[in-house]
Amino acid sequence: MSLIRLRVKLPGRTLRAVALTYAACLLAVGGCATAPPLPDVGPMEIVYGPAAGVSLPRVDTIHTISPAETVYRISKMYDVPIDTILKANDITVPRELRIGRKLFIPGAAPLRPVIPIFKSNQWRYIVIHHSVTDEGDATSLDVIHRRRGFDRGLGYHFVIDNGTTTKIDGQIEASPRWIKQMDGAHCNAAGMNQCGIGICLVGDFTHHPPSQAQMDSLVLLVNILQKYYRIPLKRVIGHRDVPGKITECPGKSFPWDEFKRRLRRGR
Ligand SMILES: [Zn+2]
Repeated sequence: MSLIRLRVKLPGRTLRAVALTYAACLLAVGGCATAPPLPDVGPMEIVYGPAAGVSLPRVDTIHTISPAETVYRISKMYDVPIDTILKANDITVPRELRIGRKLFIPGAAPLRPVIPIFKSNQWRYIVIHHSVTDEGDATSLDVIHRRRGFDRGLGYHFVIDNGTTTKIDGQIEASPRWIKQMDGAHCNAAGMNQCGIGICLVGDFTHHPPSQAQMDSLVLLVNILQKYYRIPLKRVIGHRDVPGKITECPGKSFPWDEFKRRLRRGR
């Protein structure tokens, strides 16, 4: 085995994750049935934060629990110890956290994405969607999907928020389907629910593009997923690109050319 370093840079921030991997690596070929070897790690969490030596201001904040969130992950998001969060909120049984509960986070650092990675040969494509709603987040989309009859709730694997709820603009939320490594319910054509990682940006991009913060987070997230799951750029597609789908999703104003340019550049 050899050592591989996953590294993604954003302005002023550096993402670091180190993983052991087998040296052998095959190029992705074919459809859902063929998968290249993955780094021999997992599960792990990739967190990006300030570059070494950079200290950021800390403030008390309130966090609203989303689907699949745990105190463990929230502690990483704000760089605050688990015990501090438990004590500040009089929590003795962390498993009983319910969606929508508000947690007081003392001395929180600026929110940073925590992206869980699981070893799996299932994921061969990344499919981008928009929510076609002006407002929302993982919690509200979960409610919408349950009303539609999705008994496992939110059909996407990740949601990137637009700052219209308790979540900030560009916040990345990993859904329960991703945490449990379940098939998606975001595109039933061409087997994409089985082999495509579904990412939804909150917003309707028919007449205007996503926010800059959403695009920054999307590039970061897709770069990480591409690198770990060895998904080539040609398999990063829009919902509308899936054969058999008649849809404009993720909207006529989604900036595909800029997105692909940034993915090639790595930031
Ligand atoms: Zn879609």
